[in-house]
Amino acid sequence: MVPRETDPPAVRFSDLLAQEAVRERWEKVRRYFFLRESTYDMSNRCNLRCEGCYYYEGEKQFAVENGQVEAWRGLMRGEKERGITYVVLAGAEPSLVPELLAVCYGEMPLGSIATNGFRKIPESVGYKIHISVWGNDETSYRVRKARDLLKKQVGNYREDPRAVFVYTFTRENIGEVYEVAERLVGEGCQLTFNVFSSPVGYRGPLRHDEESLLRARGPCWSCWSATRSRSYFQLIMRWPIPTPRACTNFIVVSIRARTAPRIWDWGGRFANTGPT
Ligand code: SF4
Repeated sequence: MVPRETDPPAVRFSDLLAQEAVRERWEKVRRYFFLRESTYDMSNRCNLRCEGCYYYEGEKQFAVENGQVEAWRGLMRGEKERGITYVVLAGAEPSLVPELLAVCYGEMPLGSIATNGFRKIPESVGYKIHISVWGNDETSYRVRKARDLLKKQVGNYREDPRAVFVYTFTRENIGEVYEVAERLVGEGCQLTFNVFSSPVGYRGPLRHDEESLLRARGPCWSCWSATRSRSYFQLIMRWPIPTPRACTNFIVVSIRARTAPRIWDWGGRFANTGPT
């Protein structure tokens, strides 16, 4: 194709790498290029019924569940053969099938689990665990029909090095993020952010509009800018997750909700996030 005059000048990758700041970041991520991720729904059951659940709003709920340990072992071995090195185990709710999680972990030891955190996943399953948080306990009761959910989640995963709590911004819970963050950090929990991505056909109040997305960016950007001024973000800075990186996650997910999870290095451990 003939370049047009209005086209920006072509930039070669080597030109970018010539910049020290870019090269440093490139070196940091490229050691993870061996990761090839794939996502699996472990069960079609869940112990909660959340408003706007992506699983139960769509066709997935009608899939036939296969709970056979040997079938999963075979699947994982086949996946390894085709080059998969990192699994994301989701659901409905994966904590309801701990025997399958154990098999997957035995075959493919890198990965993460997306869970509602209501039931603790055995410590022998060493994947990262992403616990979905949709607001404070009052909001969770209203939207997820679970009493004292945050209390339960914290009780299960307090100071668990596998656990990352994922606060999902909906149109309704933006103002609650500060109290939830303060509580989680005070309890020794790691926190990151996500944004609610409305399933096709869902018309309920959790859906974002332009105004709520802007408001969601408010708290999120303030995480970044207020790192030095807000006490709980000072606390977050004590964790091995730099706060701005968590915010970057939010930005990426807000642009690419429902696409492949992002993977990066948190203090030498693998972590990723997807829609929860
Ligand atoms: S916990 Fe997850 S899978 Fe279960 S109903 Fe809620 S959103 Fe759906």
